[in-house]
Formats: sequence, structure tokens, C-alpha cells
Amino acid sequence: MQQWAANNQYNSFNPMKGLLYREQYEEIARGRVPVPVQARIDPTLKCPLACKWCNSAQYRKHGHELSEEHITNVLGFLKKWGVKAVVWAGGGEPTYHPQFEKLLNRNATLGMDAAILSNGMVYNPDVAKAIGELCRWVGISVDAGSAETYARDKGCATFDMVINNIALMAKHAKYKGIGYKFLITPTNQHEVYQACQIAYNIGAHDFIARPMDTHHQGMTNTGFDHKDFDADEIFRQFDKCHKLESEHFHVYTVMHKFNPDFSHSKGFGQCYGAPLRIHIATDGNVYFCDDQYYQEEYRIGSHYPDPAQILEFWGKGKHRELLYGGTPARCTTRCCVSNLCEQCERLFVNGDDPMCMNYP
Ligand code: SF4
Ligand code: SF4
Repeated sequence: MQQWAANNQYNSFNPMKGLLYREQYEEIARGRVPVPVQARIDPTLKCPLACKWCNSAQYRKHGHELSEEHITNVLGFLKKWGVKAVVWAGGGEPTYHPQFEKLLNRNATLGMDAAILSNGMVYNPDVAKAIGELCRWVGISVDAGSAETYARDKGCATFDMVINNIALMAKHAKYKGIGYKFLITPTNQHEVYQACQIAYNIGAHDFIARPMDTHHQGMTNTGFDHKDFDADEIFRQFDKCHKLESEHFHVYTVMHKFNPDFSHSKGFGQCYGAPLRIHIATDGNVYFCDDQYYQEEYRIGSHYPDPAQILEFWGKGKHRELLYGGTPARCTTRCCVSNLCEQCERLFVNGDDPMCMNYP
């Protein structure tokens, strides 16, 4: 199945991107845990929406928020440690942190790449412009192709505002990476193409559609089932979306973490990809991977009050146990880093050199 255009193979969604991390894979295979490449910072759990599929619905009620001072300290620590990029995300909406713009600027000033996963409900146009100007890529979760579906599924009538913000970010984008994201669910699955047309018309650079994880550990809504997807209809829309592609507009219909029936599977025995990222969670803790936040079983330590504490547990004790201890066997969540785990295991840990590395 086509996931992106034939002339756009070298893109951020191609799982072969993982081969860029050979150095880290080799370290992990030797039993050493490298400095993560990327940090995800969740500055706040506040969010004005109520998406039916919210995978942090279990935790948002805590309302945690990290202080500006602490996040500034975290950024300084990450830079010194050698982390290359930050993605602002959250179990909430990162732009709802009162000092978000200042923190984004600090991220950029330190010389680490910045990116953001947001719902696009940015009220201040200066913040929307700053996101366009400073972020290497931007993923705005719209998840609808009409104001009606948006309001029904997300509990707020702000579709037009979000669409306008994507257009504004695209207009001010330094990098051509402003993405209209569409998480496909059984409730919005018939609007994929409609949404793609809007993305094209407002000047977004990317349209990214992928199925939801119907049973993520953080969801409170247990009414979703992958059997409710109309696969034929979705794939028909994917084909139409790809016909809109141009040099300036890329379409990604990302299915490689899912089976054709929209269930997910894990083809690896260890979570070797997890330490390529560090997750700075809003409750002051560091969890083993992006998908297991707020789970005590996966808490490896705390970044609060002093982020330098991370050096005391990163690559040690519980972190190592989770990394080398067969964790996927007890993890039921869709895995964000599944491709990285598989590549490290097949190419560098099993050691049988299936790609004949010395023969370019
Ligand atoms: S925008 Fe994100 S955090 Fe907010 S309700 Fe939707 S999925 Fe949850
Ligand atoms: S398999 Fe589960 S625990 Fe391991 S990295 Fe993936 S989501 Fe995290």
C-alpha cells in the first residue's frame, strides 16, 4: 500500500529513517545506553478539548503543569547532555502553558531543533507565527474534515480557528513542515479525503493520516474497536489523497505500525528503540517511553527538582531492566518506536548482518 509518493522516499515517516541511528543502536547492542537524540517535553496537562479518543484522558484530571523555571533548567540540562531536538507535546496542549512562547524561543536559542504536536487552538497570532518560524516540523491534530464532525468528536466548535492557524503557521514557516494531522477513528473515517482537500487548499505542507490505537493505556473511552474500521473505504480515500500530492504538498498515509485490519503488533523482543527519546513528563517524572507515561511500572526516575538527577538513573537499574528485560511481552499499547526496536534487534543485536553491511 502506498504511504507516500514514490519521489518522496526520504521523509520523516519512512521507518528506514531509523538507520540514521546506527551509532546509538551499536551502543545499545553492546549494553550501553546512549544519550537520547530527542526529548519530548509535556509542559502542561491543561487542554480545552475533549477528544473522544484522548489517550491521556486518564491523567489530564490531575491538571499538572511544570513551572517556567523548571522547564528552562531542563532545556539547559538537555543541551549540555547532548540532546539534539525537543518536541513539545503533552497529555495536554503545550501552547496552553502560560510561558510557551518564551520556552520555545529558549529552545531555539540553545540551538536544539524544536517541533510541536498541538491541537492548533492558539489564540495569540504571534504564538502561531513563532511556531511557524521556529519549528522544524509541526503536527496539528485536526482529526476532522468538517466543523460538524470536529465539534461532535472534540467537544468544541473551533474547527475554523484551527484551520486558520495552520494557514498562518504555513505562511510563516521557515521549514516546509506544517502538517494537518488526521487520526483516523471509527467516527471520522469517512472524512479523510475531505480533510486532505482542506489541508491542500489552505497551504499546509503535509497531510498525515494514521489509525488510532483503540486501546491505549491512557484512554478512558473503551468503546473503540479496530473491527469498526471500514478498511476498504479508508484505503479508497488514501488513493484519492495521494492524487493531490505535489512538490509543495505531501501526503502520508501511515500504516506501517498497524496490520491491514488496523490492529497493531510488535515484531520485536526488546524495547531497544525507547532510549533514543527521553520523556519529560508533566508530573516531574521520566517514564521509559512516550507511550507509558503515568504508569508506575514504567517510571524510571524524576527530573524534578534538578534535571541533572537524570544522570543518576539513565542507563542504570530499572531503566536497564526495562530495556533488556523482555518488556514488549507485557506491553499492550501501540508502540511509537516499534521500527527502531526492530531495526536495532535485527541488525545490531542478533548479529547475523542480514543487510551485508560491508557491501555498500
Ligand atoms: S487535544 Fe490532545 S490532550 Fe486535548 S483532548 Fe484531544 S487528544 Fe486529549
Ligand atoms: S513496546 Fe511498549 S514499553 Fe516498549 S517501547 Fe514500545 S510502547 Fe514502550
